[in-house]
Amino acid sequence: MTASTPRPADAFAARSTPRIFCIGRNYAKHIAELNNSLPGQECVVFMKPASALVAPGEAITLPADAGEIHHEAELVVEIGHGGTSIAASAAREHISGIGLGLDLTLRDVQTGLKNTGEPWEKAKAFDHSAPLGPLVPLADDMDLTAMHFELTVDGETRQIGDTGQMLKSVADIIAELSAHWRLLPGDLIYTGTPEGVGPVTPGMQMVLSGPQLPEARWVTA
Ligand code: ZN
Repeated sequence: MTASTPRPADAFAARSTPRIFCIGRNYAKHIAELNNSLPGQECVVFMKPASALVAPGEAITLPADAGEIHHEAELVVEIGHGGTSIAASAAREHISGIGLGLDLTLRDVQTGLKNTGEPWEKAKAFDHSAPLGPLVPLADDMDLTAMHFELTVDGETRQIGDTGQMLKSVADIIAELSAHWRLLPGDLIYTGTPEGVGPVTPGMQMVLSGPQLPEARWVTA
């Protein structure tokens, strides 16, 4: 349905990613499935390093002996024109690309870190924890509050996302992040996952797709 052409693969290798911001607890049904509490006034925010990225079509190398690894399918936006204190009403003008990605999570490790009150990096920021699909420019007919996406694993639908169910919209997220950080060109924002997160093991075919978004495929190793 989309007429946009994904950027070529070499654009991925050349990309500069100052930060990868990730939003946690942004869909009510996902919060419920993990028995988490609702976020407060502001988003739950954590970051991953650029070393977490995996280009579409590459193998995702999973950590070994680290307990259960979960997939979290997410809409991803790329910041083009940076700035601080961006109004939600102007957020769209700051987006240069949109696509889909996976926020891979070491769930057992994260539970341990939550219990001891430690930061989440070991569970969220490991190598290959942020597979990123192709990004396309934001088209005029893309409504950021009505974007649909799906994750299939070995041909079985595992997660269905509808950004209309986000607790914080993409525009609200950009406004909020830009109140804390100067957003920079190339920053990526993983906007949270809907319900249906589940285990990932080596040898799986993972496919992210959406009617207005470019498809991304990976195999886990
Ligand atoms: Zn996530």
